[in-house]
Amino acid sequence: MSRHESDNSGVSYKDTLNLPRTDFPIRANSQQDDPLMVERWEKENLFERACQHNEGAVRFILHDGPPYANGNIHVGHAYQKTLKDIITKSRRMMGYHVPVIPGWDCHGLPIELKVTQERAYASKKELQQACREYALHWVNVQRNEFKRLGIIMDWEHPYLTMDPSYEGTVVRSFGIFFDKKFITRKTKTVPWCATCQTVLALAEIEYHDRKDPSIFVMFPLTEESIRSLFPVYAGEKVSVLIWTTTPWTLPLNRAIQYKPATEYVLVQLKEQYIIVARDCAEKIAALAKEPLIIREKIASEDFANLRAHHPFVENLSVPLLPEPTVDLNEGTAFVHVAPGVGPQDYEFGIRNNLDIYSPIDEAGKYTADINCAELIGLSVHDGQEWVIKRVSAEKNLFHGMTIKHAYPHCWRCRQGLIFRATQQWFCELSHNDLRERALTAINDIAMVPEVTKNRFTATLEGRLEWCLSRQRVWGVPIPSLLCTQCDYAYVTMELICHVADHIAAKGIEFWDDVTVESLLPAGYQCPHCMNTSFVKSDNTLDVWFDSGVSHYAVLKNNPDQAYPANVYCEGKDQHRAWFQSSLLTGLVIEGSAPMRTIITHGFTVDERGKKMSKSLNNVTTSDELLAMLGTDGLRLWASSTEIGGDPVVSDVVIRNVQEVFRKIRNTCRFLVSTLYDFDYDKDAISFNDLSVLDQYALQSLYVVHHQLLSAYNEYDFSAIFHTTGTYCAVDLSAFYLDIIKDRLYVESHNGKKRRAAQTVCFVILDALTRILAPVLSFMTEQLSDLYQKNKTESIHLQHFAPLEWIAQAVYACAPHEGTVPPECAYWPWAQMTAGQRDEVIRFVAQQERWDLIFAIRNAFLKKIEEQREKGMIKHSLEAQVTFFIDPTASWHETWISFVKDGEKQGEVLCEILKQFLIVSLVKQELSSHPSFEKTGWDGLWVQVKRAEGVKCPRCWHYCMTERPDGLCGRCAEIVKDRVGR
Ligand SMILES: [Zn+2]
Ligand SMILES: [Zn+2]
Ligand SMILES: [Zn+2]
Repeated sequence: MSRHESDNSGVSYKDTLNLPRTDFPIRANSQQDDPLMVERWEKENLFERACQHNEGAVRFILHDGPPYANGNIHVGHAYQKTLKDIITKSRRMMGYHVPVIPGWDCHGLPIELKVTQERAYASKKELQQACREYALHWVNVQRNEFKRLGIIMDWEHPYLTMDPSYEGTVVRSFGIFFDKKFITRKTKTVPWCATCQTVLALAEIEYHDRKDPSIFVMFPLTEESIRSLFPVYAGEKVSVLIWTTTPWTLPLNRAIQYKPATEYVLVQLKEQYIIVARDCAEKIAALAKEPLIIREKIASEDFANLRAHHPFVENLSVPLLPEPTVDLNEGTAFVHVAPGVGPQDYEFGIRNNLDIYSPIDEAGKYTADINCAELIGLSVHDGQEWVIKRVSAEKNLFHGMTIKHAYPHCWRCRQGLIFRATQQWFCELSHNDLRERALTAINDIAMVPEVTKNRFTATLEGRLEWCLSRQRVWGVPIPSLLCTQCDYAYVTMELICHVADHIAAKGIEFWDDVTVESLLPAGYQCPHCMNTSFVKSDNTLDVWFDSGVSHYAVLKNNPDQAYPANVYCEGKDQHRAWFQSSLLTGLVIEGSAPMRTIITHGFTVDERGKKMSKSLNNVTTSDELLAMLGTDGLRLWASSTEIGGDPVVSDVVIRNVQEVFRKIRNTCRFLVSTLYDFDYDKDAISFNDLSVLDQYALQSLYVVHHQLLSAYNEYDFSAIFHTTGTYCAVDLSAFYLDIIKDRLYVESHNGKKRRAAQTVCFVILDALTRILAPVLSFMTEQLSDLYQKNKTESIHLQHFAPLEWIAQAVYACAPHEGTVPPECAYWPWAQMTAGQRDEVIRFVAQQERWDLIFAIRNAFLKKIEEQREKGMIKHSLEAQVTFFIDPTASWHETWISFVKDGEKQGEVLCEILKQFLIVSLVKQELSSHPSFEKTGWDGLWVQVKRAEGVKCPRCWHYCMTERPDGLCGRCAEIVKDRVGR
């Protein structure tokens, strides 16, 4: 551009040139303009209208997983919602009907905790009201933040899991589970947070390193056991040795496991007789810093029916029992079993008829049932110390130390978990083959990226049940009545339906208001104990059940939605959370999976690849990223990560996104700046009258356009980022647009050559604006304001480039890899006749020809560049080029076909090359000459010289002219015409 902007010839011809003009700013003024765009969309009611757009067409349903209504959105939310928005906007522009209902997850512990931290509430009902207000506040905040990101959803009609109607649906869903006999209530050892005082789901457990005591404890065999094992040692203390990192569980011990078919040994250490596995003996001797003296070898079968004294609880002996999973690499190969406080111990206890002994209360304190009076009321944390002292006092502590190991923690309060046996409500995954059906369903769901299928499968394999109950206030109640005497639970379908109907009208607060008498049949007696007194259960449903049934509450309850959804798109932590709870509830309620495709995205990480978290102090907020990139920049950033990978927020990544954005923006700005005097309907040149270069530009646009369509269709967002960036920088800026500047600026403003270039610029700009609208949602709205002369609708209510614009180029191109569904009207291949497809195939060969032309052009450019480096020329227009082509070269035939096609369009080869190389003159010689130099392209010989003649002050081309003003023939004509006008 710059070569025409300053002219040093004395006379200025600037006014006679068609220099670019536009109001489209070079840089986006995001902080100021983006909020204005949101305001404009609000005024145009775009959010709602977009969701109604294309009504009657094939529906495309993305079901929005509800974020938690707690706090401002972070960059992870921004990333995810932007991906969803790119998906839905692109489908809408393909011609689908795409109603998107956003949702929020409102119940649960974090809000209840937050609200109770602020102040104490007199009643449950008041607390629930406060939770409602708190959640609603954040729904409103987050809604505005999402709008600010240009995200188009039906914001005025969201679904909230705390809406009474939604709450009613949750209860009704529980009823369906109950009716289909998936629900059980039983004592179970469950992961428990003593701080939050609730049972935790697997998804709510995090592993962190923690320091714990690591002790080796002796369980002395009973006299009788010693006599049966080896009578020689009768009267001696002979102990089996166990290892534990949770001393507080020792009072709850009910058995010791040994490994079957394994050799154990009796060793003498520190004047003690100890039994351990042969494989562990050296390690144990080393711990004791004693030489290993093996007294006896014992086959593990001999342990059958033996018992050992508890190390400190009086009058208690426990059995030795076989268990194949006992690990020989850890501890001693004897394992302490406390069925009331360990999940595997629980299963083992059930199998072996052990007492599920769990005298631990909600707060993690020993209850009055504990078999050591001193422990009553003590927290299990304090119990650790007490137990170690006690074991030591009984001379049963063999060795004690501390270790650092990964221990399960509560994800909310970050405190270490305990396990305790409690009465809980479960969904049995073995019932009616639910788990197997879920695994089959996963196999049928399209997973993007595909590798996530295994991960999803792994979260379900081996899972036995889903614990549905929580002990909270801010949640949907499990409608049941408990016998005050024996804890029998009264639940019937009548009860559930009654409660569901009332909750749907009045919210969960109904459960607190309703009296037991009004829920129980008159004169009802407990079938177990004949008691007549009942209380309402204060258990609430797992929030994953709440959000898991959103397909039932939203997709089925809304005539504009559909079941199953086309797409669920969430983070990788949702395989064991929302994806799973949605799948299981879908299978139980509807008998099929609620989604056809699952897209799994990664977590936002910092430049070191560390997941953003408050504790690492590496969190970037959505606002911070917006300040750096602007809305469109943020959206482009979201598209830049390969799906499934972790999107990085770092200086390098941000600079790269800014650079690509700048290229795209500059290219679009250039295109729009060339169209100020162009009216497509009046001025466009038909495809057949375009030059070979113009035709090629449209063909390559089609190829790129098709790649982008396929990328949207396959959720390959990073391909959109990379393909667009390369197309703008390489195909357009460095090639086509560079070449046509001369025609655009210099040629007669209304001449065919200039109009042809403008026609192509228009088609490219239009196609590019539309295809980029799902990502660069604000910039494309502004651009279309400028170039669409009669624009009546937002770009987001328009379609991808209509066929007629580009059809001619389309037929001249082959479809590339990737597919676009037949519903998409902008997928021309599906609509082509066989003859048109043949035409397409013929043009595949043309791409090869263009590859040749690019190679030859590069060989020329290299020679010109050499002259520039030598200082012979400054600008390429100061050069003239002569060349010779060896007719025996392998590519000669292809070259000739190109020359002939040019001639068909009335173009002379040397003129075409002159444009391609941006030089003043190109001449072809039919024989070689010693002054020709060999080029990097075999068979092409070139001579580059300084152009002869004078520099035209208007176009800067060199030519032989007699004119006193120095104008070249072309410019002289144009200037004369302009003066004559
Ligand atoms: Zn907790
Ligand atoms: Zn009872
Ligand atoms: Zn000129």
